[in-house]
Amino acid sequence: MIDISQKEVWFVVGSQELYGEETLRKVAEHSQIIAKGLDASSQIPVKIVYKDVVKSPAQILDVCLAANTTKNCIGLITWMHTFSPAKMWIGGLSILKKPLCHLHTQYNAEIPWGSIDMDFMNLNQSAHGDREFGFIMSRMRKKRKVVVGHWEDERVQKKLGIWTRVALGWDELQNLKVARIGDNMREVAVTEGDKVEAQIRFGMSVNGYDSSDVTKHIEKVTDAQLNDLLAVYEASYNLTDSLKEGGAQRSSLVEAAKIELGLRAFLVEGGFGAFTDTFENLGVWKQLPGIATQRLMADGYGFGGEGDWKTAAMVRALKVMNIGLEGGTSFMEDYTYHFTPQKSYVLGSHMLEICPSIADGKPSCEVHPLGIGGKEDPARLVFNSPAGDAINVSLVDMGNRFRLIVNEVEAIKPLAELPKLPVARVLWDCKPNLDIAATAWILAGGAHHTVYSQSVTTEFMEDFADIAGIELLVIDEKTTIRDFKDKLNANEAYYHTFQHGL
Ligand code: MN
Repeated sequence: MIDISQKEVWFVVGSQELYGEETLRKVAEHSQIIAKGLDASSQIPVKIVYKDVVKSPAQILDVCLAANTTKNCIGLITWMHTFSPAKMWIGGLSILKKPLCHLHTQYNAEIPWGSIDMDFMNLNQSAHGDREFGFIMSRMRKKRKVVVGHWEDERVQKKLGIWTRVALGWDELQNLKVARIGDNMREVAVTEGDKVEAQIRFGMSVNGYDSSDVTKHIEKVTDAQLNDLLAVYEASYNLTDSLKEGGAQRSSLVEAAKIELGLRAFLVEGGFGAFTDTFENLGVWKQLPGIATQRLMADGYGFGGEGDWKTAAMVRALKVMNIGLEGGTSFMEDYTYHFTPQKSYVLGSHMLEICPSIADGKPSCEVHPLGIGGKEDPARLVFNSPAGDAINVSLVDMGNRFRLIVNEVEAIKPLAELPKLPVARVLWDCKPNLDIAATAWILAGGAHHTVYSQSVTTEFMEDFADIAGIELLVIDEKTTIRDFKDKLNANEAYYHTFQHGL
């Protein structure tokens, strides 16, 4: 459901007229070679489109205007092969709405010691041309990513790839529609927030629907659709005996399949990319959607439980960022701790809704009672998640701003079998340790709900926070509580005095 094949990033190279035709011809030639090289890089998931070398304020303004109004253009990579006096950029940068990445590179990697002369120096002067460009961006308080190094270097292409993926996620948010089926879980604070400010800041629209809007679609489900989906369940998951045809709980699985078909039809019809539900507002639905939500997430839909629209939108954004990468992304909740004198871990899960994109092997499909909500026993996919690096991401509304909190974690294999735990789960070790990580997280006001990703890293979230112009707090192996508290205090002052980006 996510098609990025038409998305493109424009490669814009700055220069000026005074170099003369011969030099400018070379600038254009080199720029096209670089654009082609980046376009061919397996690290970069979208097309890199070469744009003319811009040499005047009018040309710069034109390319920025065109970028703004070209739907498939998700951002600009800029580079100053030569010197491009930066007052020329003020007009264009003032109106540019698309994300910008400043590639500080050079056409040739090494100095040709034996042949270098002043002609070569005049052509290859990004070392100072890019500094002039950097100044005007800083002077104008424009947030951007700066990537330094030779353009053929794998590390440089990887960083550009990360930024283009974040730009894809950002582009997605500009058009994202989030359906809230039911409201917020009663009295819960952190899942609330300012939806108007969110739309101004991030682009996504968040609107409320009733479970009956979905029920209409559930009622239209045909036997043929139902049988097809049950066959998919049978082929994709290990069904417990009671869920197989003729089994005692088969009717629960049939009901779950109906809910999936209805929910999917509702989302498709409304053009939604993310949704929330809550067990308090299910109307006539017989179960809280478990397997339905899990499979919709696996197909790329964002989801947040208990009305959590911020997490739903972020799940969707991160799913777009990680297209084609190894490892999945899921809605997650810090659930239960494992404290020992040596080390402490978090067992992450939710009532039902963990995305099978993070499953280790074939999930099992089971029906168990849910001790909350007063509905029938829901079907769900149960699995462990593989060991490895991951992040937990939380977006909270601090009243005067949005705050993004990231904790780097290492998922580990559960220390023992969990034969009686009927939900998908992940065990992780927080960086730098649970004591510092949870202290910092709680001081920052981080939510219990998160986006858990095995493929998206902190660098993605840094780029995202810059594009969105929001606060970012990272909890990693270097975090100390004293410094973290200073950062919280400094940010309060910073966001009080400087209404970011407005
Ligand atoms: Mn929850």
